Amino acid sequence: MSVSQFKNFRDCEAKTMAKLSGEYKEPSSNAMLVGSYVHAAFESDEDFAAFIEENNGAIFKARGGKYSDFETADNMIEALKNDSFALFAMDGDKEIIYTAHLWGMDWKIKVDSINHSRKTFSDLKTTQDLHKRYWSEKYDGWVSFIEAWDYVLQMAVYRRVLQENLGETYTPYIVAVTKETPPNKAVIHFDESRFDFEYEYLEMKMERVFQVKKGDVKPVRCNKCDYCRATKKLKDTIEVGELIYE
Ligand SMILES: [Zn+2]
Repeated sequence: MSVSQFKNFRDCEAKTMAKLSGEYKEPSSNAMLVGSYVHAAFESDEDFAAFIEENNGAIFKARGGKYSDFETADNMIEALKNDSFALFAMDGDKEIIYTAHLWGMDWKIKVDSINHSRKTFSDLKTTQDLHKRYWSEKYDGWVSFIEAWDYVLQMAVYRRVLQENLGETYTPYIVAVTKETPPNKAVIHFDESRFDFEYEYLEMKMERVFQVKKGDVKPVRCNKCDYCRATKKLKDTIEVGELIYE
């Protein structure tokens, strides 16, 4: 289990099972590639050069120059590299993998940056706008991009997996940079009480994930995602209210 697989199960069980069985392959998105590009820039010069080499066709136009998404990405990288506080927050060992058995399953995490002398770790996130508000069913209210993309849950899981491995509590930070011109940026910390909510949430939801993954129960379709839209067969009408409430 990984944080992204858990999130996938919460978003759409049917799609996640179809992906796990190989029946469905998710089309790769440019946004994901841009995110990986920004990450690679902070790993090492060799990793970044290798990434550019590997994805040459997606990054560079045939007639020269980079596609605009990657020019924006270069500005984002620059914005962080010119900020000593952001660099300080990202200082540490890069892309380290840890595993632990938690909530009934084996978890695997990859930490963007971990600093053992400070007992901190950080994750780099690219986003549209630091201050945008999103409606959340999970939190039953308006939330920031951090909660909307379940980054609190991610940090909570990482913190627990690290506790299992290192016997100590490491403090998480998110280093965020926006796609705006010029980019906005922030180093974000978490009130401790936020993690308890996520552990309770995991406790509550893992049983269902376990059952679906084992094949004991039929995966539920969300009827909204790319997989559900592509495989949808209409059988009945829906009432107006069902469009915005499930
Ligand atoms: Zn779906």
